[in-house]
Amino acid sequence: MSYRLLCVFAHPDDECFAFGGAIALAADAGVDIHAICFTSGTAGSYRGTANSDTELGELRRAEFAASCDILGIQHHEVLEYQDGKLEHANFSKLAGELVQRIRAIKPHVVLTFGGEGALNTHPDHTMVSALTTSAFHWASHPKRYLELGPLFAPQRLYYVTTNFFLPERHIPAPAPWTVTLDVSGVFERKQRAFAAHTTQAPLMVQTEPVFREHGQQEYYTLAASILPQPAHQSTDLFEGVAE
Ligand SMILES: [Zn+2]
Repeated sequence: MSYRLLCVFAHPDDECFAFGGAIALAADAGVDIHAICFTSGTAGSYRGTANSDTELGELRRAEFAASCDILGIQHHEVLEYQDGKLEHANFSKLAGELVQRIRAIKPHVVLTFGGEGALNTHPDHTMVSALTTSAFHWASHPKRYLELGPLFAPQRLYYVTTNFFLPERHIPAPAPWTVTLDVSGVFERKQRAFAAHTTQAPLMVQTEPVFREHGQQEYYTLAASILPQPAHQSTDLFEGVAE
């Protein structure tokens, strides 16, 4: 397959805990995968051996790179925005970062968070959802960001969603899914990618039982398509996508 997939995250570890199965399956199918992460995760409660935000950022960038290698993400980039503060950043500037990259990478499919902000309802995840949604539509708009390269229209936008919640957390209102992926064949790889985030080891211990119970499937919502269609259930993020 000669598809390109673009995934947009807020923090190192988003790529594995939320999207790891879909990414590993796409990598195994030969998809060219690009990942953009807006922050280096320096606001994390778990800090490993880091003595400063700068050190934590460096550690987490290296962990992200290791996790991307395990999952099969060939191209990955961590931007310099402030962890925990995306809602206060300049929306237009951040959306422009994505418009520029969508026009350069030319992805067939774009994956990101839904508006609820995933299982942990992190406001940065909600912002990444809004930014990616805007950039998905604006990348092909003849009146938007004309200085950022030739227009390009990705074919599908998906949000990751869920059929379960984390115990003792605020309960989100996720989007109904339209795609169910059986990720049992890559579940251990997803766990290994998570384990590459050594600074986040306590989080992994905490969430391991719930992911072991619920982690054999991942759920996604088709949020936008250049092909008008009724909502329907699918098992393939690339269904109907032209190469
Ligand atoms: Zn996150």
